[in-house]
Amino acid sequence: MAALDTPITYVRGVGPRIAALLAPKGILLAEDLLYRLPFRYEDRQNPRSLDELKPGEMASVIAEIRGAALLHTKRQPIFEITVGQGNLALKCVWFNGGYLQGRFRAGQTIALFGKIEASRSTRNLKMIQPQFELLPDSADDEATRLLEVGRITPVYESLGGPQLASRWQRKVIFQLLENIRNNVPECLPKAILERLKLPAREAALAAAHFPPEGTRATALMEASTPAQRRLIFEELFFLELGLELKRRRGREHKGIAFATSDAVRAAIREVLPFHPTTAQKRALGEIVSDMRQPHPMRRLLQGDVGSGKTIVALQAMLVAIENGYQAALMAPTEILATQHYLAARKLLARSSKNYRIALLTGSLDPDRKRSVRGQMRRGEAQLVIGTHALIEESVEFARLGLVVVDEQHRFGVMQRFRLMKKPGESDGPATEPDVLVMTATPIPRTLALTLYGDLEASVLDELPPGRTPVVTRRLPGQRADDVWEFVRKQVALHRQAYIVYPVIEGSRDDQPELDFSQDPTDSREANIALSTTAARKKPRKQNKKASLFTEPALSDGKSELRSATDMYEQLRSGALRDLRVGLLHGRLDADEKEVIMRRFQRGEIDVLVSTTVIEVGVDVANATVMVVDHAERFGLAQLHQLRGRVGRGAAKSYCILMTGERVSPQAEERLAAMVRTQNGFELAELDLNMRGPGEFFGTRQAGLPGFRVANLIRDRELLELAKLEAARFANAPDPNVTELERQRVWDHLRNSWQRRYGLMEAG
Ligand code: ADP
Ligand code: MG
Repeated sequence: MAALDTPITYVRGVGPRIAALLAPKGILLAEDLLYRLPFRYEDRQNPRSLDELKPGEMASVIAEIRGAALLHTKRQPIFEITVGQGNLALKCVWFNGGYLQGRFRAGQTIALFGKIEASRSTRNLKMIQPQFELLPDSADDEATRLLEVGRITPVYESLGGPQLASRWQRKVIFQLLENIRNNVPECLPKAILERLKLPAREAALAAAHFPPEGTRATALMEASTPAQRRLIFEELFFLELGLELKRRRGREHKGIAFATSDAVRAAIREVLPFHPTTAQKRALGEIVSDMRQPHPMRRLLQGDVGSGKTIVALQAMLVAIENGYQAALMAPTEILATQHYLAARKLLARSSKNYRIALLTGSLDPDRKRSVRGQMRRGEAQLVIGTHALIEESVEFARLGLVVVDEQHRFGVMQRFRLMKKPGESDGPATEPDVLVMTATPIPRTLALTLYGDLEASVLDELPPGRTPVVTRRLPGQRADDVWEFVRKQVALHRQAYIVYPVIEGSRDDQPELDFSQDPTDSREANIALSTTAARKKPRKQNKKASLFTEPALSDGKSELRSATDMYEQLRSGALRDLRVGLLHGRLDADEKEVIMRRFQRGEIDVLVSTTVIEVGVDVANATVMVVDHAERFGLAQLHQLRGRVGRGAAKSYCILMTGERVSPQAEERLAAMVRTQNGFELAELDLNMRGPGEFFGTRQAGLPGFRVANLIRDRELLELAKLEAARFANAPDPNVTELERQRVWDHLRNSWQRRYGLMEAG
């Protein structure tokens, strides 16, 4: 008999060879397989007869293969099969389908799901790019066959290769569910399940994989069947319960109670260069009231690009400094750290006091670093601004009172905690500094509280006055000349421009500034891109057939990528030859970067050719043009950040999104959204919907696990419910919940957090 914690290798149908393939996907135990729910369901209860199909509809068809052919058209290879039922026939086509050659034999039974279209010339019906599955022949045993047809069939995301495709999973999971029957321990108290009308764990797992007859297909697709809701609730409940504990533990820690005297207020007033917005005042109020508490502050400051988070942070840091503590500001890039440093120096120079500010970045020369670290250790540096270098082992503060982490989403959660765990030693060992993390990712509040767990949130929902909206256009790369002409005109008006490329040089896309493993341009999407845009665009190379799909598909696009270094050379000797053009990217050393940034800031460079190193935070008010080339390769959040680099002054600003040859439907959607709106909130929602929360938040980065069954956007209502129930469970013992059940919940929490949320436990 199997159990949830049976090692996957012992699950029937797996074995050591396949287990080795599953391990890298995080499937180690039987449980891991069972909690990978189908990503869609196909209603094969009533497959359609070929004579009732209508153009425009999505249909599920089971038929016999009659013939297959690869057609070489001028534009692309098209793979076509003919399937039949009795004397009815239907053609199915796949563009660029060379990879399908040899997969089909006449006489095989195939299940197809796809869109029906009428051919323009013959008016015959066709199925376009269908999903398909070859069904077992009558030679296979009847039990397996029953998993495939005549029911609502689960479809799983492939675990790699045809061998581990949906059909294999279906069979293994079906057997596993049989073998595990009556052996799945309940992890939620009965009273909660009854109150919420949710099924038991075992029944929920079975029904989520193999929905009972009569389950509504739409409910399944919305993940709103009782079985699905139960599993989603379970996941969210334990997440929220863990967070609840963390918050509670946080309140027990000892922190610094900062004082806000008149003298402190006066010191702040002295440096403020403008009237804060109402939102800035409110946020600062919330931050300062936390800082006065004897517990460590854990606060998130959320505000769209350009909403003015920096000055709020600076004021908070002054509170710490005026109380005799040190403050640290950590930025994700050297450029941003340097910019913050320069801006802080300029601002604090307005004060009659002589604040001592230091910059610490990884690429400072060793002597300089040592000297800065000495100033920090001796407490001489009051405000230290830096990058990751701030949290290296050898860094100590004399009296660290406040840590600000800018653009939090760029940091791993581990780093956040390491920074928090560097208490000023002279104040007793148990005191922790206050922490303020800032992010431009505008996310709904409940979500923020869940994602950032132990953090309270303040929001800057207002931009400083005098901003004009950025005019956004998209253009194909072929119109580059018009773009350069426009850039020249703007420079003639004494404005400056950025031109951003996805890669530093050559056409390799493995360069640090754009992490393709995390970006929406992953190979899955690229595959789609190839198969759909290929229908409209002429592919570059004709002989690419099968290899397109066996290699990561982006490899084909690599050869066409324009890069910052190449285009810098090309532009400054070509279209922009009369202008002062600069080049900035992550491989320059810090001094060079600083020199270039300063020259751009002072207006000594007209056009800055760059990579996404300038994505976050860079602030040059005179820059009015942002050109993003290969805009199709950037995520929405990145594009929004990049556009946020302009429109910072009163002058009219422009964002031009130039595209390369292949634009996937998803990329089309992103670009259209950028043109349509400048509202960060709206873009974030869209991004969230398009990518799913895992990718959106870069969960690995944010320290959150990828959810197994929940989707924070789709399941917002269940999230609220889980949060409520978790708080209730932790804080107000329910007499209907037995001691044994409580114990089970805590055990389950410990196990699941250990296994999946391990990182966060560090806090
Ligand atoms: P972000 O929230 O994106 O980090 P910044 O802190 O860089 O934004 O602020 C954007 C720009 O707005 C900066 O040039 C800053 O000096 C300016 N700014 C911030 N607050 C105000 C304000 N209340 N009034 C006028 N300008 C402001
Ligand atoms: Mg900023």
